[in-house]
Amino acid sequence: MKCRPNCGACCIAPSISSAIPGMPDGKPAGVRCIHLTDDYKCAIYDHPDRPRVCDLFKADPAVCGVDRDEAIILLGMLEDGDLKNELSTLYQPPNNEPPQQR
Ligand code: SF4
Ligand code: SF4
Repeated sequence: MKCRPNCGACCIAPSISSAIPGMPDGKPAGVRCIHLTDDYKCAIYDHPDRPRVCDLFKADPAVCGVDRDEAIILLGMLEDGDLKNELSTLYQPPNNEPPQQR
């Protein structure tokens, strides 16, 4: 699926363990990334220090749901153990498809 505009759920709901510029310890689940703009775009999309996990994450109905609210719930559930493996399948090597525009 194509990344949905005005969403940004994947920049809020999941934890990110790698360093993010300005967030050296990454971010906990449920915390909005400081680089998510008010219109739900990534302010450091082209920055070389943007976390690799952000580049590799691909929009998928299994976690993006039908709308932003559902994506927040689904991505939050992935923080709870069993479903985490499913999340790992959504990280694809680069060059398969351009990362979604945020
Ligand atoms: S990848 Fe999914 S959760 Fe992230 S902004 Fe796009 S539609 Fe929303
Ligand atoms: S894509 Fe950008 S705004 Fe979203 S979590 Fe990564 S660095 Fe933050």
